[in-house]
Order: sequence, then structure tokens, then C-alpha cells
Amino acid sequence: MGYAKLSVLDSLSFCFVTRNRTLIAPIAEKARSLGFVAVGFSRPERPLFFDQFCSWIAAGKHGGMAWLERHQALRKDPTRLLHGCQTVICLAYPYSSRKPCTPDGFTTARYAEPKKTDYHDRLRPLAQRLALTIIEWYPGSKTRVCVDSAPILERSFACASGMGFIGKNNMLIIPECGSYVFLVEILTTAFLSLSNNEPMDTQCGSCSRCVDVCPTGALDGPFSLDASRCLSYLTIEHRGEVNDEAGRKMGDCFFGCDACQEACPFNEATSSRDVCLPSTAEMLRMEARDFEEKFGKTAFARAGLEKLKGNIRAVRS
Ligand code: SF4
Ligand code: SF4
Repeated sequence: MGYAKLSVLDSLSFCFVTRNRTLIAPIAEKARSLGFVAVGFSRPERPLFFDQFCSWIAAGKHGGMAWLERHQALRKDPTRLLHGCQTVICLAYPYSSRKPCTPDGFTTARYAEPKKTDYHDRLRPLAQRLALTIIEWYPGSKTRVCVDSAPILERSFACASGMGFIGKNNMLIIPECGSYVFLVEILTTAFLSLSNNEPMDTQCGSCSRCVDVCPTGALDGPFSLDASRCLSYLTIEHRGEVNDEAGRKMGDCFFGCDACQEACPFNEATSSRDVCLPSTAEMLRMEARDFEEKFGKTAFARAGLEKLKGNIRAVRS
């Protein structure tokens, strides 16, 4: 496995994947300077898990996320996303392991980082800076930055690059960093050397903590997710109220769910909380204008105020 620790950044190991440092090391260094904690390089080939993804869709396990049914030709062949693409660069950017919390003890998934702008808007400019650097170093090359903005099986490519492995909770796990990371891709027509890159095999072993801890049974087996039962889906993507049964299983979390990541030994075990939200009573009283002002540019905007209020009612009931 061509996987090398480069240095330490904010307690996390910054990693890049290859034994051939000559061509890609400067890109990895630039990525590190922008705050990314891991980078991997692979070819734009048929994604490792494309067939599994199609079977998952065919089994209807994607809930109401109809957009996942579309653009399979693009998912299968990333060169259709960028004509002439020769390299897929996968980048991981960390989010805090502290849980956002209200003064009355309710929480959200960590990735929400409600004091910050939604990660899509924060990470795109960073990746674009790296893309511009690549264009400078490879004159005439073209790039396309993807931050959940194109149909690409990002965990497949991250795994193929050797950057991390897919855990039984279906998350990309970077051994030195865990899974509390956002993934970003840069497609480039530059042909970057990838010698000795191999997909990383799972390191879960006999562990099944994530499957055991899933409160709704959405993880209905190792590497198997029924999104229609997953609290992350039900509290963010699902249009409509959380049903009573799921509501009883939300614990104190009203936006997303981190249970299968918290259980994972590859993540930092911390119960540290960041009281950065108004109380749930205040949020229930919040009007659209206040919500827009306070959370309009955050990850909460994806769900919207009425959805959040429904989640809060469910978690408090
Ligand atoms: S996010 Fe929560 S509900 Fe969804 S699979 Fe993980 S533990 Fe289960
Ligand atoms: S909790 Fe265990 S089984 Fe699940 S992803 Fe982490 S290491 Fe793998």
C-alpha cells in the first residue's frame, strides 16, 4: 500500500497516497496548506462500488432521494463529467468532533457546524484554489471541482486511491483521522503519476459496533444501509415529518445522526459538546426571517426551518 504519513496537522495525520512523490507531492503539500487532512489520487475508471450502488438503488433503499436514480452513466464514467479527465483527486477536510448543542441539552450531527457557513460553500473556494494551482503547474489542463455537486461515487474513488476504507457503517474511514471528514473531488485532465496505488481493504475486522448501535436498524447488516430508516435521512432529506417510531429513537439529536460514527473506534471518543445553539424552545418560536439571518447560510438551510421544528417536536415528545 502506497500510504505515507506526511506530517501532523491539528492532531490529525495528513496523508497522501503514492510512493512516487515527485509529481503529486507538491499538490499534496498545497492541499495541506489549505486545510485538507488527506488526499488520494486515482484514475477515472468505473467506480469500485458502482454495481453495489446500482443494486442498492434497485432495492429501493435510497428512500425518497430520487436524484440518486438519475445520471448513472455519469456515475459510471467520470470522464463524462470532465471531458479528457485523467486523474481524480480526492480530498478530505475535517470537522469538529465536538457536538453542537442547545442550552437545554439537545444536539445535532457534528458536521452541521452551525456557527460556520455550510461546508459546500466553504470548501469549494479552497478546492478551487488547489485546482488553479494544478492548472498553473500543468498548463493547458482543465479541472472540475465537485463538492456534492456532481454525480460521482466519492467514497468509491477515495477508497480506490488508498486514502481510506469503507467501514461497515458505509462511511469512508481514514485510519489516522477517522470518518469526521467532508469529501471533495477535483477532476483534472492532468495525468498525474499514481504508481503503486491500491484500494484500501476494510480494517473493521470482527468489530460490529456501528451495526449494533444503530437505533433504527437502518444499518441492516455490514455495509448495508436502508436510508429510509436512517435518522440522518429522516431528519434532513425526507420531506415530511419524522414518524413517531423514528422520533422515539432520536435520543437528543434533532438534525442528523452520528451514532454509527460515534461507535467507531477509528473516531476520537469524546463526549465534548459545544453549546452554540439557541434553546429548542427558542427555535420553535423562531420566524422565517430570524432563521434566514441566523442559519440561512449554514447546513440547517438544507432542511429548512419547518423541518427543523418538526424534528425538534419529535425529539422532545
Ligand atoms: S446515521 Fe444513525 S440511523 Fe443512520 S445508519 Fe447511522 S446510526 Fe443508523
Ligand atoms: S464501528 Fe467497527 S465495524 Fe463499524 S465502521 Fe467502525 S470499525 Fe468498522
